Amino acid sequence: MSKTESRFVDFRAVKAAVTMEQVLNHYGLSDRFKRGRDSLSGPCPIHQGTNPTQFRVCISKNCWNCFSECKCGGNVLDFVAKMENVEPMEAANRLVEWFGLDRAQLNVAYDQNRPSDRQSRDQRPASSNGAAVNEALPPPLVPSPAKPNAQPSRPAKEETGTNKPLGFRLELDPSHPYLAERGLSPETIDEFGVGFCGKGVMAQRIAIPIHAAVKGELVGYAGRWPGNPPDGRPKYRLPDGFKKSVEVYRLAEALREPSEQPLVIVEGFFDAMKLWQLGVRKCVALMGSSLSGAQEALLAQHLRPASQVIVMFDEDHAGREGREDVLRRLAFKAFVRVVASTEEGFQPEQLTPTVAQSLHLI
Ligand SMILES: [Zn+2]
Repeated sequence: MSKTESRFVDFRAVKAAVTMEQVLNHYGLSDRFKRGRDSLSGPCPIHQGTNPTQFRVCISKNCWNCFSECKCGGNVLDFVAKMENVEPMEAANRLVEWFGLDRAQLNVAYDQNRPSDRQSRDQRPASSNGAAVNEALPPPLVPSPAKPNAQPSRPAKEETGTNKPLGFRLELDPSHPYLAERGLSPETIDEFGVGFCGKGVMAQRIAIPIHAAVKGELVGYAGRWPGNPPDGRPKYRLPDGFKKSVEVYRLAEALREPSEQPLVIVEGFFDAMKLWQLGVRKCVALMGSSLSGAQEALLAQHLRPASQVIVMFDEDHAGREGREDVLRRLAFKAFVRVVASTEEGFQPEQLTPTVAQSLHLI
């Protein structure tokens, strides 16, 4: 699928291009680190420790170690993967974006879709390093073997066209314990039609039906591995050829709600499910933290100047960048409110009824 093809990043090239020091800078952490001859020491940002000697970076080797709770170490990709709680492939993609690395040189298709994000990154302190990094890049390397990054965050290239109606339905088991573990009620499971899939392309995964943005026909399933996937398997997978960025998850359903009600925009499937369960029925998910041109056009069709939009993304770097971009782009079409959290890593699916009420979501 084009989405994944455009996201191949050569790990070696990314690791060579970005130093641990630059990444600490990016997180605004460098002040907390003490510089040695070939080291930086400070409290562990991963487990958010306080002991100033427990986390150590070896500058020449460009690697790190946490001697305390994490008891692990690794390279710059491992660090970002832990900080962002994503797979290494996604960590590489985020590094490429944060530091403005030249995707052509990294043998990846450039993400044409998000010029505004690059702009906002350029205003961040890490960007001066980013420019230097660009020049220091090694010559083009052989691309990594094609390994799909099916994490449904951040559609890469601008996709066009539509997804064809599927014409069949998967037989799913709605009683799989993962769904209850995720906090979904039987009513929500039924409403969203999710369940465990025993066979086929989504075998061993929780299949999430995706309906076309406006007409509402079933166009595909996303498959979530129940729990942490074994090595090498992506948390999410989408059918080959499925164009995620031309769909807005749950838009057809949201449009049935009264027009005066605010439209809540979240990133993920489970955010939409949990909000629905709380009573936020007019909620759509971008299936990632960036708004594609096609998604923007779909939303714009149904927004009026008096419409209200509430953007609630994950409280992490990708989420913050994404929501700023959504705000900037939808602000011309509706009243847009961004709901942020003070808790790093917070996801809308963790919202409690009390907080939802205080935010006037329900
Ligand atoms: Zn640690």
